[in-house]
Amino acid sequence: EVVRGYLDRIASCDGTLCAYEEVWAEAALERAAAVDRGEVTGPLAGVPIGVKALFCTASGTTTASSKMLEGYRSPFTATSIARLEAAGAVVLGKTRMDEFAMGSSGENCGFGATRNPWDTDRVPGGSSSGSAAAIAADLCAGAIGTDTGGSIRQPAALCGVVGLKPTYGRISRWGMVAFASSLDQAGPLTHTVEDAALLLAAMSGGDPLDSTCADEPVPDDLTDVDADPGKIRLGLPRQYFGGGNTADVEAAVERAKAVFADAGAELVEIDLPHTDYGIPVYYIVATAEASSNLARYDGIHYGHRTATTDDLVELYAASRSEGFGPEVKRRIMLGTYALSSGYYDAYYNRALKVRRLIRQDFDAAFERCDAVLCPTTPGPAFRIGAKTDDPLAMYLNDIYTVNAPLAGLPAISVPGGMDDSEGRALPIGVQLIGRPFDEARMLRIARVYE
Ligand code: GLN
Repeated sequence: EVVRGYLDRIASCDGTLCAYEEVWAEAALERAAAVDRGEVTGPLAGVPIGVKALFCTASGTTTASSKMLEGYRSPFTATSIARLEAAGAVVLGKTRMDEFAMGSSGENCGFGATRNPWDTDRVPGGSSSGSAAAIAADLCAGAIGTDTGGSIRQPAALCGVVGLKPTYGRISRWGMVAFASSLDQAGPLTHTVEDAALLLAAMSGGDPLDSTCADEPVPDDLTDVDADPGKIRLGLPRQYFGGGNTADVEAAVERAKAVFADAGAELVEIDLPHTDYGIPVYYIVATAEASSNLARYDGIHYGHRTATTDDLVELYAASRSEGFGPEVKRRIMLGTYALSSGYYDAYYNRALKVRRLIRQDFDAAFERCDAVLCPTTPGPAFRIGAKTDDPLAMYLNDIYTVNAPLAGLPAISVPGGMDDSEGRALPIGVQLIGRPFDEARMLRIARVYE
């Protein structure tokens, strides 16, 4: 009944929203029947979820929402998704995204952009655009996204849902189509903090197939979000306020501060002095890694192959020109430039050094606080098309979300109320950034506010 209910809702709403790229109706109903027969059990038995098109799945297609991978069928399922299925989850289908997870609006999807359920003339955020819209419109009970520079938390904020990016290494990346390997992490988008904890617990833990996945033990009480968080000290980074935030974003953080203060938390001002370098460092590191990761799409091994030529070198060029969208090409060019001889030291190496300083800022801050409290985005969802001609304006939307992944830290966006700055009420988020591998504490702190 539950799975059928969600499938019916998808059938009636998703023509407008375009959250899903493909729906696995028959397979989902079959699996739901197996749950009913008691053949599928586990903590998530029968829970219907949507999975971002970036994850390899042995069922359906794995496109990363790119024409390059249109129709591609993976021979295997990503570890993270296999673990959710082992816990009993029912995958309803694959959700749309910005092509290869590059974008902050969902507009870079190769198969049509997702719309924000709160206002269908606006973007849902990105790159986990479909996962965020699907949760907000109740087209699944939980959704899985990925976050490289904000792609879970930013769309969660703009769609008014919870979005959690775990510590780098908490969840296996095996079977996740790679964008920027030193930043990419899978994570949940959900209605509540508790739901996020349940999905996180099912996906977490070491994996011999991913050498960057940590063997760090997953605490048994990770899902006990109502446990006492102990004495809370929250850090408010000076650098995250007073700049380009809307008045309602600032007010949302003020409200959060009041809730925490009422709960007995101590609020301390902190400094994250390298904050302003986050965007430039991120867009050098992420594009450099992307240019290398995307070299595999040559039209020979897999992916789109041009029909225009048989000459090998021309075939590479034509297949890539036809298969990749404009933003992906822009990133490959930026990244290739940053890695080229003569520029490597000036850009890539320097970015790595500043990345280390950003991490050190947080290490110093965590001597004075247990979590950082800040906005998720400077403002609410923008209109479709508003930033498509100005990539830099689009990149600046990530100002508060790039630093946690650069430092490898866990972070969560929780609905923070509404923003009226655009003449109508739109959701915004407040963000908590936690200590590495201490998602349990971060979730409990988030629950105090929720
Ligand atoms: N918006 C950022 C970008 O375009 C983040 C993307 C992500 O986290 N995958 O790179």
